[in-house]
Amino acid sequence: MRSVCVFCGSSRGANPEIIVAARQLGALLAERDIDLIYGGGSVGLMGELADSVLAKGGRAIGVIPQFLLDKEVEHVGLTQLKVVNTMHERKALMAELSDAFVALPGGIGTFEEFFEVWTWGQLGLHAKPYALLNVANFFDPLLTFLDHVVAEKLLRSEHRQLLLVESKPAKLLDRISTARPTQLPKWIDDEQT
Ligand code: AMP
Repeated sequence: MRSVCVFCGSSRGANPEIIVAARQLGALLAERDIDLIYGGGSVGLMGELADSVLAKGGRAIGVIPQFLLDKEVEHVGLTQLKVVNTMHERKALMAELSDAFVALPGGIGTFEEFFEVWTWGQLGLHAKPYALLNVANFFDPLLTFLDHVVAEKLLRSEHRQLLLVESKPAKLLDRISTARPTQLPKWIDDEQT
Protein backbone atom coordinates (compact mmCIF):
# COMPACT_ATOMS: atom_id res chain seq x y z
CA MET A 1 0.00 0.00 0.00
CA ARG A 2 1.73 3.13 -1.21
CA SER A 3 -1.02 5.72 -0.86
CA VAL A 4 -4.13 6.26 1.22
CA CYS A 5 -6.92 8.68 0.43
CA VAL A 6 -8.32 10.32 3.55
CA PHE A 7 -11.64 12.15 3.67
CA CYS A 8 -12.23 14.25 6.78
CA GLY A 9 -13.81 17.40 8.11
CA SER A 10 -12.88 20.81 6.84
CA SER A 11 -13.82 21.88 10.38
CA ARG A 12 -11.88 20.86 13.48
CA GLY A 13 -14.95 19.70 15.37
CA ALA A 14 -15.64 19.87 19.09
CA ASN A 15 -13.79 16.79 20.36
CA PRO A 16 -10.00 17.09 21.05
CA GLU A 17 -9.72 13.28 20.88
CA ILE A 18 -10.64 13.44 17.19
CA ILE A 19 -8.03 16.11 16.47
CA VAL A 20 -5.39 13.97 18.19
CA ALA A 21 -6.43 10.96 16.11
CA ALA A 22 -6.11 12.97 12.87
CA ARG A 23 -2.58 13.96 13.89
CA GLN A 24 -1.72 10.37 14.84
CA LEU A 25 -2.89 9.09 11.49
CA GLY A 26 -0.79 11.71 9.69
CA ALA A 27 2.32 10.77 11.67
CA LEU A 28 1.76 7.06 11.01
CA LEU A 29 1.37 7.58 7.27
CA ALA A 30 4.72 9.35 7.21
CA GLU A 31 6.40 6.69 9.38
CA ARG A 32 5.09 3.90 7.14
CA ASP A 33 6.14 5.72 3.97
CA ILE A 34 2.57 5.92 2.67
CA ASP A 35 1.50 8.96 0.62
CA LEU A 36 -1.48 10.93 1.87
CA ILE A 37 -3.96 11.76 -0.88
CA TYR A 38 -6.57 14.25 0.31
CA GLY A 39 -8.63 17.29 -0.62
CA GLY A 40 -5.74 19.76 -0.36
CA GLY A 41 -7.28 22.02 2.29
CA SER A 42 -5.44 23.83 5.06
CA VAL A 43 -8.45 24.03 7.33
CA GLY A 44 -10.00 21.82 10.01
CA LEU A 45 -9.10 18.16 10.42
CA MET A 46 -7.80 18.17 6.83
CA GLY A 47 -5.17 20.73 7.80
CA GLU A 48 -4.27 18.89 11.02
CA LEU A 49 -3.78 15.67 9.09
CA ALA A 50 -1.65 17.17 6.31
CA ASP A 51 0.45 19.19 8.78
CA SER A 52 1.23 16.02 10.75
CA VAL A 53 2.31 14.13 7.64
CA LEU A 54 4.60 16.96 6.56
CA ALA A 55 5.99 17.52 10.09
CA LYS A 56 7.18 13.88 10.09
CA GLY A 57 8.79 14.22 6.67
CA GLY A 58 6.01 12.40 4.80
CA ARG A 59 4.34 13.16 1.49
CA ALA A 60 0.96 14.91 1.35
CA ILE A 61 -0.67 15.28 -2.06
CA GLY A 62 -3.71 17.52 -2.38
CA VAL A 63 -6.31 17.41 -5.14
CA ILE A 64 -8.33 20.60 -5.25
CA PRO A 65 -10.78 22.16 -7.69
CA GLN A 66 -9.97 25.61 -9.05
CA PHE A 67 -12.93 27.29 -7.31
CA LEU A 68 -11.61 26.29 -3.87
CA LEU A 69 -8.15 27.53 -4.87
CA ASP A 70 -9.76 30.85 -5.73
CA LYS A 71 -11.08 30.97 -2.15
CA GLU A 72 -7.50 30.45 -0.91
CA VAL A 73 -8.31 27.51 1.35
CA GLU A 74 -5.53 25.34 -0.10
CA HIS A 75 -2.57 24.14 1.95
CA VAL A 76 0.48 26.00 0.64
CA GLY A 77 3.15 23.63 2.00
CA LEU A 78 2.13 20.37 0.32
CA THR A 79 4.45 17.96 -1.46
CA GLN A 80 2.19 18.34 -4.48
CA LEU A 81 -1.07 20.17 -5.21
CA LYS A 82 -3.06 18.93 -8.18
CA VAL A 83 -5.62 21.43 -9.47
CA VAL A 84 -8.68 20.10 -11.30
CA ASN A 85 -11.77 21.74 -12.81
CA THR A 86 -14.64 20.21 -10.89
CA MET A 87 -15.53 18.37 -7.69
CA HIS A 88 -16.27 15.28 -9.78
CA GLU A 89 -12.83 15.37 -11.39
CA ARG A 90 -11.34 15.77 -7.93
CA LYS A 91 -12.97 12.62 -6.59
CA ALA A 92 -12.05 10.64 -9.68
CA LEU A 93 -8.39 11.66 -9.44
CA MET A 94 -8.22 11.05 -5.70
CA ALA A 95 -9.62 7.56 -6.26
CA GLU A 96 -7.18 6.85 -9.09
CA LEU A 97 -4.15 7.95 -7.05
CA SER A 98 -5.05 5.91 -3.95
CA ASP A 99 -4.65 2.27 -2.90
CA ALA A 100 -7.18 2.52 -0.05
CA PHE A 101 -9.70 4.95 1.43
CA VAL A 102 -10.28 6.17 4.97
CA ALA A 103 -12.87 8.51 6.42
CA LEU A 104 -12.21 10.35 9.64
CA PRO A 105 -15.00 12.23 11.37
CA GLY A 106 -16.37 15.01 9.22
CA GLY A 107 -19.52 16.54 7.85
CA ILE A 108 -21.55 16.01 4.70
CA GLY A 109 -18.56 16.54 2.38
CA THR A 110 -16.76 13.67 4.09
CA PHE A 111 -19.83 11.42 3.95
CA GLU A 112 -20.49 12.19 0.30
CA GLU A 113 -16.92 11.37 -0.74
CA PHE A 114 -16.72 8.21 1.33
CA PHE A 115 -20.10 6.87 0.23
CA GLU A 116 -19.20 7.38 -3.40
CA VAL A 117 -16.06 5.30 -2.94
CA TRP A 118 -18.06 2.59 -1.18
CA THR A 119 -20.68 2.68 -3.96
CA TRP A 120 -18.00 2.28 -6.62
CA GLY A 121 -16.60 -0.69 -4.70
CA GLN A 122 -20.07 -2.25 -4.43
CA LEU A 123 -20.50 -1.92 -8.20
CA GLY A 124 -17.12 -3.53 -8.83
CA LEU A 125 -15.53 -0.37 -10.27
CA HIS A 126 -12.57 -0.82 -7.92
CA ALA A 127 -11.34 -3.47 -5.48
CA LYS A 128 -9.63 -1.19 -2.97
CA PRO A 129 -10.33 -1.36 0.77
CA TYR A 130 -12.24 1.37 2.58
CA ALA A 131 -12.46 2.05 6.30
CA LEU A 132 -13.91 4.36 8.92
CA LEU A 133 -11.77 5.62 11.78
CA ASN A 134 -14.38 5.38 14.50
CA VAL A 135 -12.54 7.52 17.02
CA ALA A 136 -14.59 8.54 20.07
CA ASN A 137 -17.43 6.37 18.68
CA PHE A 138 -18.17 9.17 16.22
CA PHE A 139 -19.62 6.81 13.60
CA ASP A 140 -21.70 4.61 15.95
CA PRO A 141 -25.07 6.13 14.92
CA LEU A 142 -24.16 5.68 11.25
CA LEU A 143 -23.16 2.03 11.83
CA THR A 144 -26.47 1.41 13.57
CA PHE A 145 -28.29 2.96 10.64
CA LEU A 146 -26.33 0.80 8.17
CA ASP A 147 -27.39 -2.31 10.11
CA HIS A 148 -30.97 -1.08 9.78
CA VAL A 149 -30.48 -0.79 6.01
CA VAL A 150 -29.23 -4.40 5.96
CA ALA A 151 -32.27 -5.52 8.01
CA GLU A 152 -34.49 -3.77 5.45
CA LYS A 153 -32.73 -5.78 2.71
CA LEU A 154 -31.56 -2.68 0.88
CA LEU A 155 -27.88 -3.37 1.52
CA ARG A 156 -26.25 -6.78 1.38
CA SER A 157 -24.78 -7.94 4.67
CA GLU A 158 -21.60 -8.89 2.76
CA HIS A 159 -21.27 -5.36 1.43
CA ARG A 160 -21.86 -3.97 4.91
CA GLN A 161 -19.08 -6.22 6.23
CA LEU A 162 -16.61 -4.99 3.62
CA LEU A 163 -16.70 -1.66 5.43
CA LEU A 164 -13.74 -1.84 7.83
CA VAL A 165 -14.13 -0.02 11.14
CA GLU A 166 -11.36 0.65 13.65
CA SER A 167 -11.00 3.14 16.48
CA LYS A 168 -7.17 3.35 16.45
CA PRO A 169 -5.21 4.74 13.49
CA ALA A 170 -2.43 2.11 13.67
CA LYS A 171 -4.86 -0.83 13.66
CA LEU A 172 -6.83 0.77 10.86
CA LEU A 173 -3.71 1.06 8.68
CA ASP A 174 -2.76 -2.54 9.49
CA ARG A 175 -6.17 -3.74 8.35
CA ILE A 176 -6.41 -1.78 5.10
CA SER A 177 -2.90 -2.82 4.14
CA THR A 178 -3.92 -6.50 4.12
CA ALA A 179 -7.62 -6.28 3.19
CA ARG A 180 -8.71 -7.51 -0.24
CA PRO A 181 -12.40 -6.75 -0.79
CA THR A 182 -14.16 -9.52 -2.67
CA GLN A 183 -16.38 -8.73 -5.62
CA LEU A 184 -20.02 -9.61 -4.95
CA PRO A 185 -23.21 -9.20 -6.96
CA LYS A 186 -24.76 -5.84 -6.10
CA TRP A 187 -28.46 -6.60 -6.11
CA ILE A 188 -30.11 -8.57 -3.34
CA ASP A 189 -33.08 -9.35 -5.63
CA ASP A 190 -30.74 -11.09 -8.09
CA GLU A 191 -30.40 -13.93 -5.59
CA GLN A 192 -34.08 -14.14 -4.76
CA THR A 193 -35.49 -14.43 -8.27
P1 AMP B 1 -16.93 18.41 5.36
O1 AMP B 1 -16.86 17.03 5.92
O2 AMP B 1 -18.35 18.81 5.00
O3 AMP B 1 -16.23 19.44 6.19
O4 AMP B 1 -16.19 18.36 3.96
C1 AMP B 1 -14.90 17.85 3.92
C2 AMP B 1 -14.61 17.26 2.58
O5 AMP B 1 -15.10 18.13 1.55
C3 AMP B 1 -13.10 17.11 2.40
O6 AMP B 1 -12.73 15.74 2.32
C4 AMP B 1 -12.81 17.89 1.13
O7 AMP B 1 -12.55 17.05 0.03
C5 AMP B 1 -14.03 18.73 0.84
N1 AMP B 1 -13.86 20.13 1.34
C6 AMP B 1 -14.78 20.80 2.06
N2 AMP B 1 -14.34 22.05 2.41
C7 AMP B 1 -13.09 22.15 1.90
C8 AMP B 1 -12.09 23.17 1.94
N3 AMP B 1 -12.29 24.33 2.55
N4 AMP B 1 -10.91 22.93 1.32
C9 AMP B 1 -10.71 21.78 0.68
N5 AMP B 1 -11.61 20.78 0.62
C10 AMP B 1 -12.79 20.95 1.22
